[in-house]
Amino acid sequence: MKYISTRGGAEALSFEQAMMTGLARDGGLYVPETIPTLSHEDIKAMAGLSYEEVAFRVMKPFIGDTFADAEFKDLIAKAYAGFGHAARAPMVQLAPNHFLLELFHGPTLAFKDFAMQLIGQLFQASLTRSGDRITIVGATSGDTGSAAIEAFRGLSNVDVFILYPHGRVSEVQRRQMTTPSESNVHALAMDGDFDDCQAALKDMFNDFEFRDGVRLAGVNSINWARVLAQVVYYFTSAVSLGAPDRQISFTVPTGNFGDVFAGYIAKRMGLPIDRLVVATNQNDILHRSLSTGDYTTGTVTPSISPSMDIQVSSNFERALFDAYGRDGAAVASQMDDLKSNGGFTISQGAIQALRDHFDSDRVSEETTSATITSELANSGELLCPHSAVAVNVAQSRLGATPMVTLATAHPAKFPDAVEDATGTRPPLPSRMADLYDRPERVTRVPNDLKALQTLIKERINA
Ligand SMILES: *Cc1c(COP(=O)(O)O)cnc(C)c1O
Repeated sequence: MKYISTRGGAEALSFEQAMMTGLARDGGLYVPETIPTLSHEDIKAMAGLSYEEVAFRVMKPFIGDTFADAEFKDLIAKAYAGFGHAARAPMVQLAPNHFLLELFHGPTLAFKDFAMQLIGQLFQASLTRSGDRITIVGATSGDTGSAAIEAFRGLSNVDVFILYPHGRVSEVQRRQMTTPSESNVHALAMDGDFDDCQAALKDMFNDFEFRDGVRLAGVNSINWARVLAQVVYYFTSAVSLGAPDRQISFTVPTGNFGDVFAGYIAKRMGLPIDRLVVATNQNDILHRSLSTGDYTTGTVTPSISPSMDIQVSSNFERALFDAYGRDGAAVASQMDDLKSNGGFTISQGAIQALRDHFDSDRVSEETTSATITSELANSGELLCPHSAVAVNVAQSRLGATPMVTLATAHPAKFPDAVEDATGTRPPLPSRMADLYDRPERVTRVPNDLKALQTLIKERINA
């Protein structure tokens, strides 16, 4: 299996190379050259299997012979051993034909642990084999950074730098990034918003001298291995509701489009998914793009669901690539327009192709909060604000097809918003109850590429 760039101008790579590389050198994102499919029987045989076993069967065709089967199974087992729930991704029922997929039982209480814990294992196995040392730099709106730090802390062949927007992440998110004491962990609070962090990261990847000099590797949601790890829970949840003999729909709280794109991959692999519903907060570029074809970036307005506060949705490029019939030049020209004009218009054909799979909606701050309140009354479930955005969007789309809504974070990760809506402050799970007592370690940095690069070089040579 080879991986190609969405902009058509970078060489094809193996799974391992694409994983270690992150962003392609032409600025594009890696996608598999072809999407492997699983037969009806293959999917049916997943019924009743453990999360880990389904993970192996879903991911194996994409990794080829990168790892021997026994080693890959062992890495998967280690990745999910630290989760606080035996099912890894359990479901609860909210209403008739409406199910909530709880993706927050990992070590940092957000769905990003599913991908990051696995990537930590895969990187370590690969680096041990090659003897290389790498520098991971990530940009985060809060959850990616904490999940990355948790996955890479203490590893001997990795330095991990995480850029987060100063003052714009929740206290739990910040503490999860600033309290690990390992010397290979570097939390950087940047003056700016998440899009500024993401732009600085992209600029570092596009500075090849720096990129090669520090052996830069990326674990942001553009990393193909992360998308792949997220495909698994679409299978486990759909199969437990009767797939492949039945269609299932999903509603996904969306920011960078990585999670919902994983659902699209599951569909392309043969999972009978009816609708993939993109749910956004007031930062609604994805809803606007999918409903009007106009992808114009605005300014980010901070919300109570901060992990979706973005205006440039990186993984959307992967969906566009398929919507344009895998024409890398067409994608590259739209991305050039984005860079120079702040937006582009999706062609009629491409928007139609996107709408064949994706539906979308946006939810206001007031409605998000009201949904947390009403869901607690209706089902007893306490939702984080991101999950509440999706639950609200799903509620207007319930019908004969079972709807699975993804709960992307534990309510205790966003206690202020949950307390405002319900009067109840959700406690942290007991395994992380001392988070508020641990000392913090963080470096404040300006939104200045050169200064960031200097700091990173100094730290890794220290
Ligand atoms: C990252 C995140 C999202 C958005 O996921 P994308 O893959 O970027 O679309 C939603 N909810 C939570 C809690 C997150 O951490």
